[in-house]
Amino acid sequence: MATKYMVSFREGNGKDRMLLGLKGACLCEMTQMGLNVPPGFVITTKACLAYLESTDGSFFSDLMDEIKQQMKFIEQMTGKAFGDPQNPLLVSVRPGAAISLPGLSDTILNLGLNEATLRGLISQNGNEQFAYDAYQRFLQLFGKAAMGVSEGHFEQVLDALKVRNEVTFDLELTTEDLKEVCLLFHQLFEEETPMKFPEDVWEQLAVAVRAIFESWMSQRATDYRRKFNITKDQANGVACTIMAMVFGNMDDNSGTGVGFTRDPGTGENQMFGEYLIHAQGEDVVAGVRTPAPIELLATEMPSIYHQLEDLKDNLERLYREIRDFEFTVESGSLYCLQSQNGRMNAEAMVRTSVDLVEEGLITKEEALLRIDPKHLEQLVYPRLDPSFFGHPIAQGFPASPGAVAGYCAFDVERAETWGKVGESVILVQEETGPEDIHGFLASKGVVTSKGQKTCHAAVVARSMGKPCVVGADEISVDTNGRQAQVGPRVLHEGDIITIDGIDGNVYYGQIDTIEPEFNPYLITLLKWADEVAQLTVYANADTPWDAVRARSQGAAGIGLCRTERMFEGPDRLPLVIELLLARTPAERIEPLDQILNIQRSDFRNILRTMGSLSVTFRLLDTPLHEFLPSVTELSKQVEDLKNLRGTVIATQSILGNVVYNVPEEEASKMAFAQLDSELILGIIQQKEMMLKKTHVRAEANPMLGHRGVRLGITMPDIYVTQIRAILEAAADCISEGIDVQLGIIVPMICAVPELTRIKAYLDELRKEIQAEKGVDLKCKLGAMMEVVSACLKADELATVAEFFAFGTNDLTQATLSFSRDDAENKFLAYYLMDGLIDKNPFESLDFETVGLLIKMAVEKGRKIRPGIPIGICGEQASDPTSIKFFDQLGLDYVSCSVPQLPIARLAAAQASILNMANSPTLSPERRGD
Ligand code: PEP
Ligand code: MG
Repeated sequence: MATKYMVSFREGNGKDRMLLGLKGACLCEMTQMGLNVPPGFVITTKACLAYLESTDGSFFSDLMDEIKQQMKFIEQMTGKAFGDPQNPLLVSVRPGAAISLPGLSDTILNLGLNEATLRGLISQNGNEQFAYDAYQRFLQLFGKAAMGVSEGHFEQVLDALKVRNEVTFDLELTTEDLKEVCLLFHQLFEEETPMKFPEDVWEQLAVAVRAIFESWMSQRATDYRRKFNITKDQANGVACTIMAMVFGNMDDNSGTGVGFTRDPGTGENQMFGEYLIHAQGEDVVAGVRTPAPIELLATEMPSIYHQLEDLKDNLERLYREIRDFEFTVESGSLYCLQSQNGRMNAEAMVRTSVDLVEEGLITKEEALLRIDPKHLEQLVYPRLDPSFFGHPIAQGFPASPGAVAGYCAFDVERAETWGKVGESVILVQEETGPEDIHGFLASKGVVTSKGQKTCHAAVVARSMGKPCVVGADEISVDTNGRQAQVGPRVLHEGDIITIDGIDGNVYYGQIDTIEPEFNPYLITLLKWADEVAQLTVYANADTPWDAVRARSQGAAGIGLCRTERMFEGPDRLPLVIELLLARTPAERIEPLDQILNIQRSDFRNILRTMGSLSVTFRLLDTPLHEFLPSVTELSKQVEDLKNLRGTVIATQSILGNVVYNVPEEEASKMAFAQLDSELILGIIQQKEMMLKKTHVRAEANPMLGHRGVRLGITMPDIYVTQIRAILEAAADCISEGIDVQLGIIVPMICAVPELTRIKAYLDELRKEIQAEKGVDLKCKLGAMMEVVSACLKADELATVAEFFAFGTNDLTQATLSFSRDDAENKFLAYYLMDGLIDKNPFESLDFETVGLLIKMAVEKGRKIRPGIPIGICGEQASDPTSIKFFDQLGLDYVSCSVPQLPIARLAAAQASILNMANSPTLSPERRGD
């Protein structure tokens, strides 16, 4: 075997994560910078791949020879020998891929123990209790990770002993108890696996390494890679790290802990973490014993605390990042066992990005590239309405911010079932583990009754940006009974609770939430983003209130005001219905008069709010099925009213006959009986009339029907009224001294004649209103590019249009013939699940089809009108991957919904930085070279 399949921590290239895995690479880097890392080596991902491809045992036996060579080096460094009954070396064996992935084998600690070396361990430091504790841990970890014994069996043994001895923690078990545990664990091996527990330490090592390699192809690992589209370029094979053990469970001067170089909840520049004295490995995160905050070490072990502070600075200088780290103190000596980029919530990511720039550790561009734009969604998550003063039913640790209400689900399967049908679900568990990941994905929030800020639930929820409360220990979950006891209250599956991941409270019932405000760090970061972004980010804002929000959230203007959306709501909608159902221009006069007044006032308010920022109003685009009542619904109402009227007449006839003693047929004709039935008759007639008109207007394919400019051409008074409202509002604002930047855009344009017609209305009205108001009225006319033919004729359109905005919602519908109304809830989910498509084209632009049309239209348009402003205003305008494409095309702007503004602003900046060839201020590492 000529290839060298492993490297020691002293020689490995820490930049090569593909080869060494994240953990292995990091241990090499930390060792080489002089941090106190126990000696060890990495078996590379290449070895894993070669092993998986090998067909006979010779590859692995050669590999074991190489492992034995490397072990000699650890033996030299530690002065111990592997398998030596007098002075045994124990090692940890850990898996690590190039990116962190669930489904891989678990870490095994204390490998190298057997009956003989156990005695050696005891004689090394004379502590029998410690040695048996280490042995039982090894048996558990090895049994579970390498021999397929279920974790539950080990726990049952331990729990039974603790109950018998009336103790709570493993630590309280006596040496004799631990001996018994080890014996019982050995029995478990006999009962639960066909393989015998290997007494030979080299065999232990071989079994562990094999288990790690094979876990690369485990069902869970392969499913995860498939689901999240993890390609071989991102991670290919798992590396295996073998490192000398240091013992945090050796004595009272030993311990283990986890830390973050800064607070991962707020980003504050203060070390954050937890530790446990007399503990090993996972004890801190397992939530079994309550760890102490890391600050306490400053008084408990001051020298260790100072070394940790140095470690914090060294790690941040080396990685120019916030790191989390694992450490162990063995009899007063500090060791760093692991470190990785700290997972933080969005608030902390934003703050640390700004701070790291101000501290001179990274550049502004690096700060902007450091944050996944989607992560900023956390900052636009709602908070509890501050006027709410209820009492929580439980309180835990705030683990990931945001407030959300939803139905309780006590197991991940139920959470997934409800989540899939769009319900808001809160997953409530005692604690969570990597196998629960699909429950997290399906839930809107997570609550656990155990654990602290670094437990599994907290870390995962934070990274996914989902509100989370952990360690809410008043909640006692009964998974099988599908309920939980919370003090005197029983919480049933399906009850609604609200969780507040900011202060850790859990409330019964649904509580109102409010929009968050931008903090100064986010404002600074987004200001930097705007400075480098090529694309301007506008908002889609339809009402004066939206305009206020858009302005306060940093929109550079309004790229799309959908004027028909101003008529949503029960008080305004009837006006639009009346307008759309009118059969003659005369019938439209009254509703249009009202529309003129309402819209002029709304437009004025929007323009006043936006001041000198540009505002584009889109003329009415009313797909009829969205605005008109449905024919079926109306027919049913008429039917019901007729039945009701019949009942009223019959009842009143009987009343007349019985109470007033008149014959029944006479009674039905009497005035008092007529009153209500006449009223109902009137309503029936109105409804019947509406039904008739709706019948006439109803369409088979309303999204392709009488909407947009087609309405403006066939009913010119509608567009003329709207243009008048816009121009009069603008003229009023200009008279008030506002430097109005106005655009009018026409929806659903197919070809030039449509646009020319609308231009004629505009030119005439502009002249008239200019003269009347005595102001210089400028207004650009644009075409919505959302019909395929418009893209094909973009050159012709550019002769009239002064700007283009791609309506990528309609354009996606038209290009793929995927109905906007039906695709997402009918077949798209199936296509996605089955891998027929890899993304929802209504969320992220389909580059090869819609993208191609846009590219072609942009080229055609610019040929005729160089420099014509071009933007995007469909849903894809805030999708970071689509934004990258729009930036590459050299578009001028994107316009997205108000809550998506921070995401689009950051994504636009990232696109510019990444698309800018060889930005000189970026380090090669950040450029991905
Ligand atoms: C579009 O089609 O992308 C668009 C912005 O218009 P609407 O969604 O209003 O049809
Ligand atoms: Mg559209």
